Parts: sequence; C-alpha cells; structure tokens
Amino acid sequence: MNQWEVVIGIETHAQLATVSKIFSGASTAFGAEPNTQASAVDLALPGVLPVLNKKAVECAIRFGLAIGAEVAQKSVFARKNYFYPDLPKGYQISQMDLPVVVGGDITLQVGQGDKAYEKVVRLTRAHLEEDAGKSLHEDFHGKSGIDLNRAGTPLLEIVSEPDMRSSDEAVAYAKSLHALVRWIGICDGNMQEGSFRCDANVSVRPKGQAEYGTRREIKNLNSFRFLKEAIDFEVQWQINEIEEGRRIQQATVLFDPENGETRMMRSKEDAHDYRYFPDPDLLPLIISREWIDEVREDMWELPNDRKLRFQSDFGLSSYDASLLNINFDIGNYFEGAVLAALANGERIEPEPAKFAANWVINEVLAKMNQEGEGHPTWKFGVSAETLGCLLRRLREGVIGAKTAKELFAEFWEEARANNYASHGGYPEKIDELIESRGLKQISDTGAIESLVDEVLAANPANVAEFKAGKEKAFNALVGQVMKAAKGKANPQQVNDLLKQKLEG
Ligand code: ADP
Ligand code: MG
Repeated sequence: MNQWEVVIGIETHAQLATVSKIFSGASTAFGAEPNTQASAVDLALPGVLPVLNKKAVECAIRFGLAIGAEVAQKSVFARKNYFYPDLPKGYQISQMDLPVVVGGDITLQVGQGDKAYEKVVRLTRAHLEEDAGKSLHEDFHGKSGIDLNRAGTPLLEIVSEPDMRSSDEAVAYAKSLHALVRWIGICDGNMQEGSFRCDANVSVRPKGQAEYGTRREIKNLNSFRFLKEAIDFEVQWQINEIEEGRRIQQATVLFDPENGETRMMRSKEDAHDYRYFPDPDLLPLIISREWIDEVREDMWELPNDRKLRFQSDFGLSSYDASLLNINFDIGNYFEGAVLAALANGERIEPEPAKFAANWVINEVLAKMNQEGEGHPTWKFGVSAETLGCLLRRLREGVIGAKTAKELFAEFWEEARANNYASHGGYPEKIDELIESRGLKQISDTGAIESLVDEVLAANPANVAEFKAGKEKAFNALVGQVMKAAKGKANPQQVNDLLKQKLEG
C-alpha cells in the first residue's frame, strides 16, 4: 500500500434549484406521481423547441463567481447522442467544447485536530445540462416502468482536476462543494433525493511516477459514506490487480453498498461514441459582463471570506474558523451566539468570541455529530440566542460552567425529545431557572471566605501536607470548598482565597 499513490478526480451533478426545467416550463418539484411533470418538450414530441431557463444560467454564473472561475461569455449547448429508455429524445442536451464555467478552485479543510491541513483542489469546468428520466424496475409485476418527471431537470456538472490523493480528501472535497452550492443557493443538496451525486474517478500509480494510472469511474455515489467506502474498496482492488500482474482496464463501475464492493457496469465509452454536435435548436449562450456584475452584487459573503473574517475579527485559528464555518447554517449560528453573548453595548472582541467558539465546537458541534450524518445542520436543540444568553450569564459569573453545561444539555434533550420541532429553552427561561432552582453561583467574597475558613479548620491534615510541599493537597481543599458550596462557588475566587490564606 505504501508504495502506491492514489489519484482521484470527481464529477458532481448538482440539481439546480429552479422552479421549472431547463428547457421547458414543467415543474421540477420532487415526489410527484410519475409522468405528471413531463411536458411535450421533456417527452420530445415532434415539433417542440427548447427554451433556455434564465434562472439555471444565473445559477451557473453564481457558481463560477463563487469558485473564482472564468464565466464564459459564450458557451454552446450540444447534443450527446445515446439510446436509453429514459431518454426519449435519443440525446441529452449538454455542453461539450464550450462550457459556461472554466477553471476556479476550492479550498478544503482535511483531517482533524493535529492532523488537519488545508488543500486547494482545482476545478476543470462546470457545464449546464439536462437530467434524464428514471427507469423503475420494482413493483411493476415483472415489468419495468419509466418516469419522465426528472427528464429536463437542470443540472450543473462540476468537474474537478485529478487533485485528490486519498478518500479523505475526496470526502472533504465533496463536503465543501456540497456546502458551497447550498451556501450560494443554487442547489438544495438533498442527497437522498438525488439532488447532489458524485462520480469518483480513481486510479493508482507507483509513488514517484509522473504519469497517472488508468482510471475507473465509480458512478452515482449519493452519500459521503458511500463515497469513502467505494473509493477505499476500489483502491485496494486496483492495487491487488496490478500486484497480481493484471492491467487495469478503463471502465465505469457501480458501488454496491450492501457488500461494500464496486462492480463493472460497462467498459469506458469515449466522447466520440456520443457523436456530440451543437444543438441546432439552441443559440449559443451569450452572457454579458453586465449580467455577471449584477449577479455578483446580489451574492452574499462567500465561505472563504467569512472564514478569514472569523480569523481576523475573532482571533480564531484557521482550523477553528473552518470548523465554525463548515457550512452556512453553522457559521450563522456561531455569529448569532457571539452577538447574543455580548452584554448591552459591549463590542465584539476576541475574548467573548473565543468563548462562544469553544462552546459551539465542544458542545454544539459535538451534539450534532452524535445525531449522525443525516441530521440537518439547521436543526439546533438550543438556539443561538439561548446559547448566547447562557454564555452571558456564565461570563458575568452569575452561573458556573458546570451549571451552564447542565442547562445546555437539558435544553438540547428537550428539543431532541420533541424531534427538534422547537428549541428546548429560551433566553427568558434561563434567568427563571437560575432563580427558581437556586443555581446562582456564590461570588460574594465574604460568603466564600467563611466556607474556606470552615474547610481549613476541618482539614488540618491537608493543610499540613500542602505546607510540606504537596501540591495535590491544594486540589483536595478546593474540592472540599466546592463541595461545601454545592458546586456553586466561583472557582477562581475559591482558588485565590485559599492561596491567600494558606500562603499568607
Ligand atoms: P470523462 O468525461 O470521459 O469521464 P474527463 O477527462 O472529463 O473524462 O475526466 C473526468 C474526471 O476524471 C475528471 O474529474 C478528472 O479529474 C478525472 N481523471 C482524469 N484522469 C484521471 C486519472 N488518471 N485518475 C483519476 N482521475 C482522473
Ligand atoms: Mg466521466
């Protein structure tokens, strides 16, 4: 394994979030009765002509701008000819020689903790095309059916350079791209419904070799877990083949999640097999500079810009900033919590922001991870406002960290029990609970001092040990005072007072 290098390039089909199809007025809504959303154009009835959906083009422009690519002022729709039952026209309208988006790149955060690193993956191109229909092989009494609702749904096919070197990098790429298309609002990213699917091109080569090995393309991976499993299996399979003296044939393969294996679907077709030619029914797509500028003005802050802002405004490390900006929702949540954590009129400084950052990373993201991959990132058990209020009371010293964590966990569980239909706690509830449950931290120096005195008087052995140089005895005394205060004494004050008394 060690002398092999893995090379991966990914093609992604992102379904564009338009109301109607790319060349017809039929609806793109998911889940309708079969064939109720297929117009004459989608069915390829004689005499119909396609009309390009302006919204789909705008989505492509947005994407191009978001990745720093060139948005082509002229691109051309071509016919990709092949026969398949779910393709009534006998060709798919796609872009071949002149795609709408050229170049660009995406910065990924790969790995965790100490092993985390950044990586830039270059994009080759992104082009507009239409989706095909769907063959249904189940539940038809031994026959297959065709549902053409999806035919003509607008897709952006996004092609990366073969820049990834591990399945972890491939997953990081797919996740970043997924977060990006949702961020700029061009795709809902719903992987179960097929709105975002990846094809992984995988090859291996001996380390140090300049040329790439022969690739096999794993089609239609619709979850990050399958993407990783499929690549890991495929890499091992290719290495075995080569080590046993066989050659890899270029091929298209399918991943079977049941047994975790890839298997051959067809040997690889070449572009010329499709007899591409410019679609005579569609004019070249001309995009003016003015239109591109208009779209740019309409776009909000991009992921990388927000990440850099988190670093500079809040003094966060690059790693923490990318964790907190892993997608649009989490970044908004974090910023909302920071603002809510500020006392009236307080300015945003790194201190409260870092405080909130630690809480979002250690508590909120941890809770979301426990929920698993399918948990929507906008479903928070504790709202940003509530968390902010909790943090404010904590910073003010009204409650201690232990109490704050307990309230947080309690609120989250309440929301979970309610299937996240609402949040478990509200800002007002926090003060009520602090009052009614007597959760207030004891910060009154006099009160703490008398507890300290009691503990010192009752534990002469610990005091003697400390005086004899045993640091541990000090912790035991702190523990005694906290216990006497039922966990509610301000720990910093307890420490300071104890030190004073013992050393003074
Ligand atoms: P096609 O459209 O026929 O699948 P492309 O040349 O457009 O072929 O490449 C498709 C994808 O395959 C791209 O993402 C590219 O980065 C990737 N790719 C090309 N060569 C290799 C290789 N040797 N190993 C892994 N990926 C590759
Ligand atoms: Mg391909």
